[in-house]
Amino acid sequence: MPDHGMHMETTAPAPARILVVEDEEALLFTVAHNLAKEGYDVVTASRGDDGLRLARERRPDLILLDVMLPGVDGIQVTRLLRRDTDVPIIMMTALAGERDRVAGLDIGADDYITKPFGMRELLARVRALLRRSSHPAQAEPDDPAHITSGDLTIDTARREVTRGGESVILKPKEYDLLLFFVQHRGRIFTREQILNRVWGDDFDGGARTVDVHVRWLRQKIEGDPAQPTRLRTARGSGYLFEG
Ligand code: CA
Repeated sequence: MPDHGMHMETTAPAPARILVVEDEEALLFTVAHNLAKEGYDVVTASRGDDGLRLARERRPDLILLDVMLPGVDGIQVTRLLRRDTDVPIIMMTALAGERDRVAGLDIGADDYITKPFGMRELLARVRALLRRSSHPAQAEPDDPAHITSGDLTIDTARREVTRGGESVILKPKEYDLLLFFVQHRGRIFTREQILNRVWGDDFDGGARTVDVHVRWLRQKIEGDPAQPTRLRTARGSGYLFEG
């Protein structure tokens, strides 16, 4: 096995930066105060548009996001952020907001917490999500133009894929889908999430599009497409890539 050269940290890591977007002043204060007490670097906003701007300027490691916000709502903030970042997002939703929760997860939020919530639960969710997102499997490879997974190599500069040294011919969307999965190994995505992240907002086809492309991709990257070991089906919920 070649050594992929994980970089060792020699200095203490900077505290994780957390952006909290919430328009209820008392809740914003309580959450920010408790996060700061835990040693996090906290940035706050009370409007969706300000939150969006701060997310881009300050590059937080995690975002706590209210759904009902003045300016731009939390669902729309998530949708816009997911065009260019994988920053972990926890939605803070009202008890009655079942539809918001589903919508939030569908467009790429990672977790949600229902109001009213205790600070201990919130901090546990934050820690868990930060741990997941900093997992070495998602670290940058030495040569960002080449990503490998088993006998698959993806040349992202040329958009070319080889398997065991043989060229694999992929349609553009098959390539996009493969790259997305390989960059998010081990994470389950629903069909709706995949549609949003790979096809984008403007696509109005159904979730079945994802199934069709997964089938095509499996024929090209799996030893036995009927028994996939890489691009696997997650029971009832979507797909994940392992390898
Ligand atoms: Ca609110």
